[in-house]
Amino acid sequence: MFHGLNRSIRRALPTTCIVCGQNADADHSICHECGWELPKLGECCRRCGIELSGTLVTDSCCTSCQLSPPSFDSCTCAFPYVSPIDKLVADFKFSARFDIGYSLSRALASTFNAYYNGQAKPELLVPVPLHKNRLDSRGFNQASEIGNVLAKYCGVSIAHCALRRTRNTQPQTSLSSAAARKANLRKAFGVSKSDSLVGVTHIALIDDVVTTMATTQAISRMLRAQQDCRIDVWCLARARRTL
Ligand SMILES: [Zn+2]
Ligand SMILES: [Zn+2]
Repeated sequence: MFHGLNRSIRRALPTTCIVCGQNADADHSICHECGWELPKLGECCRRCGIELSGTLVTDSCCTSCQLSPPSFDSCTCAFPYVSPIDKLVADFKFSARFDIGYSLSRALASTFNAYYNGQAKPELLVPVPLHKNRLDSRGFNQASEIGNVLAKYCGVSIAHCALRRTRNTQPQTSLSSAAARKANLRKAFGVSKSDSLVGVTHIALIDDVVTTMATTQAISRMLRAQQDCRIDVWCLARARRTL
């Protein structure tokens, strides 16, 4: 089953601010006051998107990426994964609050358009897939919903079924060690039989929250093994510190 945010938002009640419950702009559903007060990211690592701090920074690249660059080219997020963003994302994912997903995704679309201002945008938006079992129980893939908003406001095509999850993995956040998280995702992703990725050289991989980067790393490695392409990761929120 697939729920379009844009369709859903028309049926929902978008005139209430998703943060404070007061009246809000019908298009954004975040009131002016709450919009100003939402947490913002400072300067971030241009490779992994983590907020930079301290002095061990070279060329806007964190120490970790200097020592071991990720398998994707960049990661950019709209918000830090702190209150109230964490609760808003959870309400979107687990309570099907499409109005919240839409509002956060509009902010990501603005960041996306500003990032590529004056340069070529990715050719294709590719949402991180859910396994069929989780898709059936949740009823929608949050990354696809975010991608729909980016497609509409950034003018980039989206391929909902370019990737597939071949194993029903445990939630990454339930695993305590980096080794366990990596093993959990081993051979977890594949390219679907559709030919949507053929000839594509610049992909925007879409996810909701990036914490350890294990998922985006696993997908990027898999994609890079089969085709030469630039991969930019885009997600609503970035955890400030990896687990
Ligand atoms: Zn408000
Ligand atoms: Zn980094």
